[in-house]
Formats: sequence, C-alpha cells, structure tokens
Amino acid sequence: MENKITTPADLERTQQDLSIKRNLKRIKRKIFVMSGKGGVGKSTVASMIALLLSIRGNRVGLMDVDLHGPSIPNMIKIRGGMNITGKHELSPFEYSANLGVISMGMILQEQDDAVIWRGPLKISAIRQFISDVTWGELDFLIVDSPPGTGDEPLTVAQTITDAEALIVTTPQEISLADVRKSINFCRQLKMNILGVVENMSGLKCPHCGEKIAVFSEGGGKRMSGAMDVPFIGEIPIDPEVVRLADERQLEHILERKDSEVYKAYMSIIDKIEKG
Ligand code: ADP
Repeated sequence: MENKITTPADLERTQQDLSIKRNLKRIKRKIFVMSGKGGVGKSTVASMIALLLSIRGNRVGLMDVDLHGPSIPNMIKIRGGMNITGKHELSPFEYSANLGVISMGMILQEQDDAVIWRGPLKISAIRQFISDVTWGELDFLIVDSPPGTGDEPLTVAQTITDAEALIVTTPQEISLADVRKSINFCRQLKMNILGVVENMSGLKCPHCGEKIAVFSEGGGKRMSGAMDVPFIGEIPIDPEVVRLADERQLEHILERKDSEVYKAYMSIIDKIEKG
C-alpha cells in the first residue's frame, strides 16, 4: 500500500476546504460580479445590487475580494475595521439588519497602502478570506471579484463553486472584447452566467433631455445576443453616482426614486431575484 505523508499544510488545507463548504452551504445564492476591465463600475454595481436586495427583505452579504483596489469601503459608509471573533473567524460589518459587508480593504491599515502580493500568497489569502468569514444564513452573497480572468478571479470561482456570474461592461468595443474572455472563462469553469449588465450606457443631457452615447451604445446587448447569454439591463451614466460614491454615500442613490439610474437598477434586481 502506498504510504502517503500528510503535512501540516495538507491538514490546514483540508480543514479550510471543510470550513469553506460549511460556510457556503448556508447561503442560497452566490453572485460573482465580474468584469473584463477595471473602471467599468463593477464595485458600484455589486454595492447597489447588495443594497437593493437587502432593502427588499433578503438577507445579503457583500464581499469585496479585490486585493489591489478594494473599493467598497470607500463607496458606502463602513465604520471601523474587521471584527475578528476568534481564530479563523471574521464577522462582517453589520451595515443594516439585512446586510453584512466585508472587504479586503478592511485589512489594510491605511487607505493609500499599496499591498504587494506574490502569486501563491494571493491565492491563499483569497481562500483564507472566503473560509474565515462567518456569514450565517443568507439569501444572497454578492462577491465583488477582482477584474479580468487571471489567478485572483480564478481562485474565487474555484472556491465558490456554485456561484452565478454577473458580468459588468461598458458599451464600447474595447470593453466588450474582454467581456467575451470573461464569458469563455465562465464556460470553461462551468459557471452559470446570470447575465451581462451594460453600465455607463449613455448620458441624458440635463438641458435638452437627449441621450448622448458617450461610450457608444447597445454594445452589451448585441454582444450578449451573439454570445448567447442573457442581457440583464443597461444603467445610464449619472454624475450623481460619481459624486455620492466619492463622498462614501452611494446608498443615497436609493432616495432618488425617479432617476433613470434607480429605475435601471430596480429592473435588474427583478431579474436577479427571478434567477
Ligand atoms: P470598477 O469596480 O469596475 O473598477 P467602480 O465601481 O470603482 O469600477 O467605478 C468606477 C468609477 O465610475 C467610480 O468613480 C464610480 O463612481 C463611477 N461610476 C460607476 N457607475 C457609474 C454610472 N452609472 N454613472 C456614472 N459614474 C459611474
């Protein structure tokens, strides 16, 4: 019989696998928000979706796994750091009764710190982060994944194996080329694709009301049709989104119920809830 040596590192990994399985089993749906490129609004979309789903009465967790540019703590008001409740136990910040938020950014001492990670360390930090957060029972876990299709999103996708992908893009071709890669990435990993969201699709002129196609238009919808994935909706450009996010008050968008942005998000939430 082959004599297999079990090292402390093997044991640690097995324990981590068990803890990941145990934690994720209590979460009904996991939504992996991804994008081909940075700057298309992935974190904004992840935060808005989490806020809206929680307001609709779902128990929601929002997890920011971006090692290099964690941005959720800079968009919505999160006071204090990470709550370490035991060895290998991190409890999320209670944003509201229905919404818990945790971010790699909470680990960083200073907002402007640059964290330099080597490849294997990145992978183990992401696995550890996913395994250690104690969410309890949730209806939705919204995961703000690092952009692209490299090691980091791959680690998240391989750790949260039953996630559904929501792919955020802007309408112009340079963004769409990367989205095709994201779709192929999901297909290779056999990850269910919930759909594509086109963000920053046109700006309504405040003077004449006419729509200006700043980054072109309709690209996300056309590409979804060509790649045979659902198109979930388009969100217009709204300077208020930038202002509120910069002031860490993105949640105030929810008070502007007659804005195009709010209506766009509501229609996206309807589709996400239906699954
Ligand atoms: P990513 O996570 O893809 O890097 P962010 O969510 O950080 O992108 O958004 C990048 C910038 O775009 C932020 O300043 C954000 O406020 C802004 N933004 C996102 N969506 C919109 C929108 N619909 N209208 C205007 N600005 C937006």
